[in-house]
Amino acid sequence: MSAEGFATGRTWLGLMSAAALAACTPHIPPSPETGFVSVSQPFNVGDAGIAARAYHRSGAYTRGLATVADEATRYLAARASSTKRPAVVLDIDETALSNWKILKLDDFGRPIQGPCDIALDAPCGWAAWDQLGQAVAIEPTLRLFRQARALGVPVFFITGRPENQRAVTERNLLAAGYEGYAHLYMVPDGSRFPSAADFKAPVRASIEAAGYTILVNMGDQPSDLIGGHAEGKFLLPDPFYRVP
Ligand SMILES: [Mg+2]
Repeated sequence: MSAEGFATGRTWLGLMSAAALAACTPHIPPSPETGFVSVSQPFNVGDAGIAARAYHRSGAYTRGLATVADEATRYLAARASSTKRPAVVLDIDETALSNWKILKLDDFGRPIQGPCDIALDAPCGWAAWDQLGQAVAIEPTLRLFRQARALGVPVFFITGRPENQRAVTERNLLAAGYEGYAHLYMVPDGSRFPSAADFKAPVRASIEAAGYTILVNMGDQPSDLIGGHAEGKFLLPDPFYRVP
C-alpha cells in the first residue's frame, strides 16, 4: 500500500494476478502417497532408460527376441511347403542387426549426424556408426534366415537406411552371417516418408506383384509390419527407440 492507503500499481497487479490464479487454477492437495503437491506428467525418460538397461542386462530382451523369432521360424517351416513362391521379409536394425553398442553410448538418443569413435566411449552419430559396419547379428533372426535358406525360401531385407549406406550395409550383413539374401531394399537418398510403413508396405506389395507370397514379415517396429502384404507378422521387442 502507498502512504495514502491506496494499493500501488505493482501491488495491485500482484493482487490481481493472485486473484486470477485462484479463480483459474484448481486447488491441488498433496498426494496421499508422497505428500507432494504435483501434477500428472509423462513417464520420466531417465527412468525409462534405467528400465531399458535393466531389461537388456537381465536377459529378458534376448529371451523376447528368441520367443518371437523362433515362432516365426516355426511358422515358416509349417507353411513353406504348401505355399506358392514363399518369401520372408526382414527389417535390419534391431531385427537382423543389433546396435546395442551405440544405443548404450547414446543413452537411447538417436543423433543421426556427428562423428562416431567407439574407442572414445562417447555418444555416436548413427550415420557414422552405420558406416563402421560393426553391428552384430541378432542370433534368433539369423536362425530364421538360415531356416529360410535351407528351405529354399528367398529373404528380402527392407530397411529405412538410405541408399548411400548400401555398400557398408551389405558388408555388415555378410559379416554377420546373412549370406544369400535375395535383395536389399533401401530408402532412396533424399526421400522422406511420414512413416516407415509408407516406404515398406509398397515395397512388400511389389514383392507380391512379382509373384511371391510373403509368409513371414518380421521387424522391431509396428511401422515395419502395418500396411498389409504379409501373411505372418512378427514384432520383436524394442523398448529402446521408436520409428514412426
Ligand atoms: Mg528396425
